[in-house]
Amino acid sequence: MNFNELGLQAELLRAVSAEGYTTPTPVQARTIPVVLKGRDVLAGAQTGTGKTAAFTLPMLQLLDESGDRGRFPRALVLTPTRELAAQVAESIRTYGRHMPLRSTVVFGGVGINPQIDTLRRGVDVLVATPGRLLDHASQRTVNLSKVEILVLDEADRMLDMGFVHDIKRILKLLPAKRQNLLFSATYSDEIRALADGFLHEPEMIEVARRNTAAETVTQVVHPVAHARKRELLSHLIREGDWKRVLIFTRTKHGANRLAGQLLKDGVSATAIHGNKSQAARTKALADFKRGALRTLVATDIAARGLDIDRLPHVVNFELPNVAEDYVHRIGRTGRAGAEGVAISLVCREEQYLLKNIRRVLRHDIPVKRIEGFEQGNCPEDGHRTQGQGGPGYRRSSTQFARRGRGKSWGDGRRSR
Ligand code: AMP
Repeated sequence: MNFNELGLQAELLRAVSAEGYTTPTPVQARTIPVVLKGRDVLAGAQTGTGKTAAFTLPMLQLLDESGDRGRFPRALVLTPTRELAAQVAESIRTYGRHMPLRSTVVFGGVGINPQIDTLRRGVDVLVATPGRLLDHASQRTVNLSKVEILVLDEADRMLDMGFVHDIKRILKLLPAKRQNLLFSATYSDEIRALADGFLHEPEMIEVARRNTAAETVTQVVHPVAHARKRELLSHLIREGDWKRVLIFTRTKHGANRLAGQLLKDGVSATAIHGNKSQAARTKALADFKRGALRTLVATDIAARGLDIDRLPHVVNFELPNVAEDYVHRIGRTGRAGAEGVAISLVCREEQYLLKNIRRVLRHDIPVKRIEGFEQGNCPEDGHRTQGQGGPGYRRSSTQFARRGRGKSWGDGRRSR
């Protein structure tokens, strides 16, 4: 399959080939012709599948063909996070560079006045996060009555982040007749309910099995005591000579602390999370992308949708509470066919989380002990050594026992 078999016009094909893409990804091959026909789409596709181009390319073509330029946006793309909004807007600029279409992005955390000025001058495509878009709507600095195409990107995450009411309010501001595209990494009952509410006879497109991790990602679990995780991480980065690593922590505080500790170990690091200013987040991401920063320590929400080309290493410093977040996290590596490794540093207290993740993945994750870091960490599978006692250790041991013992690190099988 080749890009010029999809019905895209020459201006778009030129922009695609300038990016070095020759073959459409599966979601692109399936979505582009359907969108060009004007159909609604419900697509199950994770980040890294090429979904942004899958909706952007045909959307730009339809807008260009209709030629109906006015002041008000004719396409609206909603995203859950500011970073994703900025990235989608960048893709729109990239793919639309040979077209006379105007696009802009609005999100919170930055001044609203420049956004108002741009909107006043007129745009064809508006990318927005829900909260800031509603701010504009309530100040009447945006008019959504001319929207012909609506895209909800990462709709599952928008629901996770509590945007459902905002989305419904936005839908009420749009004309009834329009084309709707909904992209979601996972299908839950909530997503289905949302989709039923506004999609019109959608074409269902699913490119990855439900909740499966990208197949190009090699996953591994390193068992380690909680207190020694940072030491192991620094060891892995140094020994492996890892150049660019995205590290996930569960909390903002944890992200800050770890970034500080890595710096002390001589590994350049910055934390990104919701408490950082937009400017700081943008700078950290830019530094990381151009290789000036070796590690980026992020919380799930901050990292959602980050598009970093060919990221070779993703580390789960702590496993996420929600198993599906694991899938999102490791989606940062091995993107669009590139090789990637997702490493999870897992202490005994997190075994139940690992079990949930295995259940969601429907496959096991290989466990590899790192010499010098594994000892005393897994009493239940016969690797107990002396000297790991102490109150903290005993307490966590009890916690684990309550969740059910009997599974060892290396048993290689899920219990069902
Ligand atoms: P996305 O899933 O939209 O976040 O895209 C994932 C990554 O794949 C981005 O870095 C894109 O630049 C890249 N990409 C998109 N389409 C293609 C393609 N047809 N061939 C190779 N890479 C692509």
